[in-house]
Amino acid sequence: MEIVRTKAEVREAVGRARADGKIVGFVPTLGGLHEGHLALIETSVRECDFTVVSIFVNPTQFGPDEDLDKYPRDLESDAAKCEAAGVDLIFAPSPEEMYDKTASTTVHVAHLTEGLCGAFRPGHFDGVTTVCCKLFGIAEPDRAYFGEKDYQQLVVIRRMVRDLDLPLEIVGVPTVRETDGLAMSTRNQYLTQEERRAAPRLYRALQAGAEAARAGASGNKAEEVVAAVLAKEPLFKAQYITAVDPDTLEPLEDRGAPMVIAAAAFLGRARLIDNIKVE
Ligand code: AMP
Repeated sequence: MEIVRTKAEVREAVGRARADGKIVGFVPTLGGLHEGHLALIETSVRECDFTVVSIFVNPTQFGPDEDLDKYPRDLESDAAKCEAAGVDLIFAPSPEEMYDKTASTTVHVAHLTEGLCGAFRPGHFDGVTTVCCKLFGIAEPDRAYFGEKDYQQLVVIRRMVRDLDLPLEIVGVPTVRETDGLAMSTRNQYLTQEERRAAPRLYRALQAGAEAARAGASGNKAEEVVAAVLAKEPLFKAQYITAVDPDTLEPLEDRGAPMVIAAAAFLGRARLIDNIKVE
């Protein structure tokens, strides 16, 4: 496994793999790798001949009051996990390597970015789509792997790739959870012991909403069920609980499944997100 810092080195390494006829898989991450990231990486290693992982805490997707400075960074530990999983290349650029001071282009996906997390994190998805578009241009992968845990991000990236005719396939990977149901996240490290004990309630609440939806409840009703279960844990401060159409991300209101119920909630200083799909 090679670790490189520059775009030119990525192009060179991927160019060599391509010249050998290899299928290139790509997993963009912020680092702080856990089993959720490893599920994406393992899927890429299984499906492709050459796997590239980017590790880049992308400043443009963090808001001014968010955790950019505190975000866990440990390249050595991340590299060991990647190597054990069979990764071929890690791209770990500096912000200066990624962003030219005179850069003036932003990739903006309309509509899909307005609700859910987009409503509370202005500019976040522009940061995500712009950096992913750049990373796709640098690594030129055949496939890129994204987690269903960040459901809105997955839908937005798929839309961008379709709208811009980018020549790669986006593959969604199911959410990896702790045994108690908590979705794995780098931000779980922020939880105190007490908060960690309370944390699985977010998924339990979503499961209760999904059960109601499967029994015929509307989006609005399913949201109420989730809110009621979550409210039993006073440490949680819900930011949003919204049942949306799985493709358009439009709120369902009085319509029923299929739906994705997505939620964001603060637990201490950690902002947790999760979702559940009802076919
Ligand atoms: P991040 O480093 O948080 O930006 O995540 C990088 C990629 O890993 C994104 O596509 C996430 O959706 C995905 N991911 C993060 N946590 C999980 C999880 N628990 N299960 C599956 N995928 C995940």
